[in-house]
Amino acid sequence: MKRIMLLECMQEISSFNPVQSGYDAFAIQRGAEMLRQRGLNSGMGGALSVFDAAEGVELVPVYSARAGSAGLLSAAGWKRLSGEILEAVTAAMSGIDGIYVSLHGAMGADGELDPEGWILREVRRLAGPELPIVISLDLHGILTERMLQQIDGLAIYHTYPHVDFGDTGERAAKLLLCLLANKTRTTIARVVIPALVRGDELITKSGCYGDMLRECQRIQRDGTAMSAGIMIGNPFTDVPELCSQAIVMTDDDAATASAEAIRLAEMFWPERFRMQGKFISLERAIAQAKTMRGPVLFTDAADATSSGASGDSNLILKALGEAGYQGKVLAQIVDPVAAAAAHKAGVGAEITVTLGGQFDPVRFPPMQVTAQVKLLSDGKARLETMRAELHAGPTAVLTYGATTVVVMTCSVSLFDRAMYYSVGINPTEHDLIVVKSPHTEYHMFDQWVEKNFNIDIPGATSANLPTLGHTICARPMYPLDEGVTFTPVVTIYARQ
Ligand SMILES: [Zn+2]
Repeated sequence: MKRIMLLECMQEISSFNPVQSGYDAFAIQRGAEMLRQRGLNSGMGGALSVFDAAEGVELVPVYSARAGSAGLLSAAGWKRLSGEILEAVTAAMSGIDGIYVSLHGAMGADGELDPEGWILREVRRLAGPELPIVISLDLHGILTERMLQQIDGLAIYHTYPHVDFGDTGERAAKLLLCLLANKTRTTIARVVIPALVRGDELITKSGCYGDMLRECQRIQRDGTAMSAGIMIGNPFTDVPELCSQAIVMTDDDAATASAEAIRLAEMFWPERFRMQGKFISLERAIAQAKTMRGPVLFTDAADATSSGASGDSNLILKALGEAGYQGKVLAQIVDPVAAAAAHKAGVGAEITVTLGGQFDPVRFPPMQVTAQVKLLSDGKARLETMRAELHAGPTAVLTYGATTVVVMTCSVSLFDRAMYYSVGINPTEHDLIVVKSPHTEYHMFDQWVEKNFNIDIPGATSANLPTLGHTICARPMYPLDEGVTFTPVVTIYARQ
């Protein structure tokens, strides 16, 4: 019987969100509660499906913490979270044969800018040098030197917009079972690429990044590598090792791992120019939208809650009002004060409130509206792809003129239509829909809109990366700096 420890800690932060997040941003599951993730399209859900089907595996679920994307985790939040993780892992370590850790990779805490590296170092210290540790990661994660020094294997998302959460967990679990069965020694090659990327070329189905990820998948499937990926980091997580990187893991074959990692990095580097956001100014987008039959999408990637932004940007709503746009507008905003006012007033009431700027008033000065309360909800929804629960807190549908705004108390991921559907709104019935996510799955909006405008406005997750003001990540870094050059250098991580 092999006893496998399960551990999870996932958050993605934007350093440019002015509000820190805390311990209460995390949904915590302890021990067997984690097994409720069975059937979910998540790293843990996928891993559980493999472990459950395997012979002779005993699961030891210890601790899971999953948070929505937000600002930097506070020092107090990290102290409590890391303390609980340490305590849970310590208590369960005796008799463990292998460890699976489900991570996102783009955490950051006040005073600890490599939380995942801290967790893995502590797990390794408690586990000793022999136990295999395998992790799964989002391709937006920042895989650090300290993380690589602790692990025996890893699996990385291969899709964007992400749909392979469960598949990645399955790959990680299979790797761990393989390492346990064969006592395989592994080698991981890493090539750091000094580039941050964004934009439509990242979309797996259509973009050049997808072509590279298919090479990663190919060398995994044909047996050249046990695992491969190209991680691009979350460009808003301003931490020392923020970068793009090619990662190839082999069965103790350093030469192949190195050669493949260099090859992938050399595919990536020349495409860095293409892999940048293409924008239109808000004024021009509105002027064009006024002349179009529509419907049109206004992508507010700068306020993408799923990348760690505050979700309280009102810049598009304000400009549409000022420009006298006449079409039916549909938007979402995080504003706990307006949501509370609507819940207090009740359905049918007319209220005068400010919308937006509750968290980031410097970027988004609050705008006053007099609106009708059309509908109230508890803000519960389920993501379309992952089926994970969303808890937006008391939520209200407000209307003013031809504009409908879904006002949420808490920030949740808005990369699909879940929060619109949860309040009975069909986006196709509107002329202009605001989406606070850089991309959605094609069928959700792009398939039926006349044009998707990627709006260049301020925000904590603006794809206009040089405007953000990075101060911590290694420099020079394309496109933050001019004249960045790249000579591939491989670092090999092999556990002895
Ligand atoms: Zn991601």
